[in-house]
Amino acid sequence: MRYAILGDIHANLHALEAVLEDARALGCTEFHLLGDVVGYGAFPSECVTIASELPGSCVMGNHDQAASGEMSLDVLSEVARISLQWTRERLSPEHRAWLGALRPQRQIRRTTFVHATLDSPLAWGYVREAAHAEMSMALQRTPLCFIGHTHVPQAFAKGIGQVLLFDEEEQGIRLSRTTKYLINAGAVGQPRDGDPRAAYMIHDEEEEGLWLRRIDYNIEAAASAILEAGLPQKLAVRLRTGS
Ligand code: ZN
Repeated sequence: MRYAILGDIHANLHALEAVLEDARALGCTEFHLLGDVVGYGAFPSECVTIASELPGSCVMGNHDQAASGEMSLDVLSEVARISLQWTRERLSPEHRAWLGALRPQRQIRRTTFVHATLDSPLAWGYVREAAHAEMSMALQRTPLCFIGHTHVPQAFAKGIGQVLLFDEEEQGIRLSRTTKYLINAGAVGQPRDGDPRAAYMIHDEEEEGLWLRRIDYNIEAAASAILEAGLPQKLAVRLRTGS
């Protein structure tokens, strides 16, 4: 079984379509989504439709929860609040219900999926350092757990700390069968690691192979749609810079 891990799509239809095309061409037959399907981008309905029809799973992100109406928008930053108010108005009741019914975490075979962290998954804490990763891995019952939320690809090994899994040529690596990993798959729709290309990962369960993929997509089309929708300009700018 070879599957794709898609984090933080954020209503970026252009990035999502490019990633799915790449993943299918590389033989992925399941798609596990790490949440934040909507928010920030200009295509929430289109992205929810695709996400809800893909074979695989999806966990709840903080933007999904807010867009579904399950969470007050008052705690959010101004940019997030504006985009989520806009998003709520564009989603159908069925789409809002689908987002609101997403589970905080899922276990599929030997892998766990959660948007933010396994310790209090709906408090939306950020895993950026080894100490945070250890708190999450203390509750991890599977060898592998994928997270999103920071929009930065990162990997941690239990008891070791942050590990570099990928070199500049983006070669895949083989996971050790005796190590527990917590891996951030990066963001499909709004990368924040300085590389504006869409990010996602592929895991091959038989080979224990893992690949970080960076995919060119039509950034200008996604950015223009954000501006045409009247959403904050910052959301278009950061797509171009990957920040
Ligand atoms: Zn996000």
